[in-house]
Amino acid sequence: MKLRRSLFWLLTQLLPPACPLCRQTFPPYWQDPFCENCLAGFPPLPPAHCPCCALPFIAASNSAHLCGRCVDRPPPFTKVHTVGCFDSLLRDAIHQFKFNQQIGLDRPLGTMLNSSLPVDSEFDLIVPVPLHTRRLRQRSYNQSLLLARELTRLRGFPSVADLLIKTEETVSQQDLSARDRERNLSKVFQVLRPLQGERILLVDDVMTTGSTVRACSQVLLAAGGKEVEVAVVGRA
Ligand SMILES: [Zn+2]
Ligand SMILES: [Zn+2]
Repeated sequence: MKLRRSLFWLLTQLLPPACPLCRQTFPPYWQDPFCENCLAGFPPLPPAHCPCCALPFIAASNSAHLCGRCVDRPPPFTKVHTVGCFDSLLRDAIHQFKFNQQIGLDRPLGTMLNSSLPVDSEFDLIVPVPLHTRRLRQRSYNQSLLLARELTRLRGFPSVADLLIKTEETVSQQDLSARDRERNLSKVFQVLRPLQGERILLVDDVMTTGSTVRACSQVLLAAGGKEVEVAVVGRA
């Protein structure tokens, strides 16, 4: 084991550093987590987006207003931070990370997620969106926990993997209305111990309808959390 690890270390020293997504060798002194081409293929959030849930607006807007959904049903979280739109190369990177066992993408994606947070953000806890045990066994890792640990490494706020759990596996929610999705999810997440006014950063790889992060935020606040902000790599 020790020998294998030493060989791996030696290899990483011998091979020139390369982009974790396209494997192109980095130019000398390259500091960014991905190469220039890949970074150019990550679609940033457009300037017109909801200031709360980060939903990209289709048309340009001359004022910062909430989206219809945040107005109709104010979300339990305060704000969503994101690397960019869940599209193009960012979507590919997340797919590789989540479904293709490319767990080495945790560091570069985590670095980008960290950059999406204001430098002066302060949290008491970083909480990953959990997977149900059966899904965790299939995949063997929770991609959101890997991202949360990266944020802990970069920011120092502790991440906890055993606070929020998913007690039931959810069936595909694609055909359900937003309200039904949330009803479905409301009993699925559980907080295992009471909280004491902590400011929480909830971490997930992707946010689409927002039903999952809404349900998680709700149970975290109900358990005594003070405030929940959300960090996702891709926002659909
Ligand atoms: Zn690349
Ligand atoms: Zn919104």
